[in-house]
Amino acid sequence: MAKTNLWDERGLTEEQKLFKESILDWAERNLPLDRVIKMNREGHPFPKDIIKGLADLGVIMGTVPEERGGLGLNWKDQTLISEVIGYIDPSIATAAGFMAVSTGWGFTIDRYANEEIRQKYVQPAIRGDKFIGIATTEPGGGSDVSNFKCTGEKEGDEWVLNGEKTFISGVQEAKQIGGGYWVNVRTGPKLPEAPHKNMTAFFVPIDSEGLTPTEPYDDAGRNAISTGGFIMEDVRIPEEYMLGEKGKGFYYTMEGFDNARILIGGSAVGVTRRILEEAADYIKERETFGNPLAKYEGIQFEFVERYIEMEASSLMVNKVASMQDVRYDEEGWLARTGKAKTYSPKEIAKWISMIKYKVPHLAKDTADDAMHWLGAAGYSSEYIFETAWRGVMSYCVGAEGGANIQKIVIGRETLGPDYVPYK
Ligand SMILES: Cc1cc2nc3c(=O)[nH]c(=O)nc-3n(C[C@H](O)[C@H](O)[C@H](O)COP(=O)(O)OP(=O)(O)OC[C@H]3O[C@@H](n4cnc5c(N)ncnc54)[C@H](O)[C@@H]3O)c2cc1C
Repeated sequence: MAKTNLWDERGLTEEQKLFKESILDWAERNLPLDRVIKMNREGHPFPKDIIKGLADLGVIMGTVPEERGGLGLNWKDQTLISEVIGYIDPSIATAAGFMAVSTGWGFTIDRYANEEIRQKYVQPAIRGDKFIGIATTEPGGGSDVSNFKCTGEKEGDEWVLNGEKTFISGVQEAKQIGGGYWVNVRTGPKLPEAPHKNMTAFFVPIDSEGLTPTEPYDDAGRNAISTGGFIMEDVRIPEEYMLGEKGKGFYYTMEGFDNARILIGGSAVGVTRRILEEAADYIKERETFGNPLAKYEGIQFEFVERYIEMEASSLMVNKVASMQDVRYDEEGWLARTGKAKTYSPKEIAKWISMIKYKVPHLAKDTADDAMHWLGAAGYSSEYIFETAWRGVMSYCVGAEGGANIQKIVIGRETLGPDYVPYK
């Protein structure tokens, strides 16, 4: 029986088709599902050939402008790429998780970094030689981005950073191959009415003196990429390693979250598509009581429901990626007039939160359904479903922002700021 194919290429541009085919072709040779499962079983750090392979395809940080080492892709293209990568790696670890973190944040670091950081860290990361990521979360919590405890004090032409970051993706990988993080610290007093002010972002190399990585966590899933943390004790960072302007770290961080969350939306569509294809192959073949499982409405209709949701999510992700393209196309207008031409950043953030909330949950629920459709086989890590379930769950519970935080953003922009449950 021919393998189920749920892709519809007809809306894609020639360039998008080319990316899709070249990533699928590379994955067939280098990252088939059984390797994804094996790497998740064996744990991090993940093999360098995967990062290099993705880099050679040009898909890491493709949105960085060409003159700075990227491909100058728009968000629609990069989101399609992340969908294909979610499809080849439904564990959301080895390729998909890495791509979303490194690309969403790498693009944002590139925007606010100086030339030295770009050349020493961003461009090598684009080539797959280094890992760059985001370190906002602290032991006191991750959701309240305006309330972090890490501090930065100016001494001469350096900043001295102290505090701890935790649940950070890729610390072991960064240690292994070099790289660094976007780190938010408080650089001024906490204002009771505006705690988000006086937060500043720095680029902190992983090998900085005074930076000590902590033990990685033993996570439920996405085991092929590490989640850990680091303690900063008098880490001295040159003034030029400040990202953007002093005191504006909170705003830039929201922009970085937006970029990473779009790619997560794309990846989660890809995960769902792959789960549905793999499950379809099984239920069309497997017979009980004289019929293939796919003939029974109890299973077929659940499958159809998820398929509809997946295609609806794909359209929504595509729309949101287009909104982000408009945002960057029109940012000059916003800077000049102080007013958004088409969409305000907050309005775009609402749509981004809608996909960040909806699509990973869809992927998780589809994996859950597929495990039921397959019975005992679905519970076995011989198939991808349980690995995918454990992986996408990371994006439901917290990675790149918890589920309720997305709902608060959506509620705020839909019902109005008077209905935000906190000040
Ligand atoms: C696998 C993985 C990888 C990660 N990688 C990174 C990384 O690379 N860099 C990084 O900085 N962080 C990373 N994180 C951390 C992630 O950003 C946080 O999990 C997230 O911000 C939530 O913070 P928290 O886990 O501390 O939960 P908390 O902030 O303690 O919140 C706990 C729960 O309460 C909910 N909640 C919080 N406030 C409210 C409210 N006002 N109303 C209703 N519900 C609320 C949240 O949605 C969440 O479900 C990662 C997390 C995971 C699981």
